[in-house]
Amino acid sequence: MFSHWDGAFRMCPNRSKSASQPEDDFNCHSDLSEALSRTRPSWNEYFMLMAKLCATRSTCYSRPVGAVIARDKRILATGYNGAPPGSWHCTDRQECFWREPQNQIPGIEPRDLSRAIHAEMNAVAYAARYGIHINGSTLYCTLSPCVHCFKTLISAGIVEVYFEHIYDFNDRGGDKALLAYYEQYADLIQVKQLSISETSLEIAGRFLQWITSSRRHEHYS
Ligand SMILES: [Zn+2]
Ligand SMILES: [Zn+2]
Repeated sequence: MFSHWDGAFRMCPNRSKSASQPEDDFNCHSDLSEALSRTRPSWNEYFMLMAKLCATRSTCYSRPVGAVIARDKRILATGYNGAPPGSWHCTDRQECFWREPQNQIPGIEPRDLSRAIHAEMNAVAYAARYGIHINGSTLYCTLSPCVHCFKTLISAGIVEVYFEHIYDFNDRGGDKALLAYYEQYADLIQVKQLSISETSLEIAGRFLQWITSSRRHEHYS
């Protein structure tokens, strides 16, 4: 938890003077490192942050999604949404699925013919490809799983899911229906929403924006 957090690194005294100078960057990062010696993201936040990073590799034109499978505080597999490895990406042609009438398959929704494999499925497939057993593990995903992924996760032995954002159904009540769908399987898999705290997001953001491994204290150089 962040009971000792005082927000000290939010202030960068040198930045307004000459923010472009690398020396100032170092000083600002030292402020961050000072604060980080007292606080870290929780494990759940850590894995969700990883899932958000995975989403940066997404190649689906629809929306970026990232997923991490973890057990015993260790990452077992990762995934993001995109076409099967080796085939062209949705983002290459700005096309996720065929919309033309002649390409439709009767009884199948056009979006179900999407080129992209969902992030959760890709994480499970990654584990299968490399022989990693994921029974009893937890999945972290930036988006609530669709029903197809959800059932696959149960079959793969995943017992817990944390998602950041519930799938938005344009206010048609779909979110409640999806949560009710998950609830059917509550004896097999627990599904929870997880929001990363502002503090942890700020820490992660600083790590990305600044040189991560500059020294915490000059005394330990
Ligand atoms: Zn796509
Ligand atoms: Zn899915």
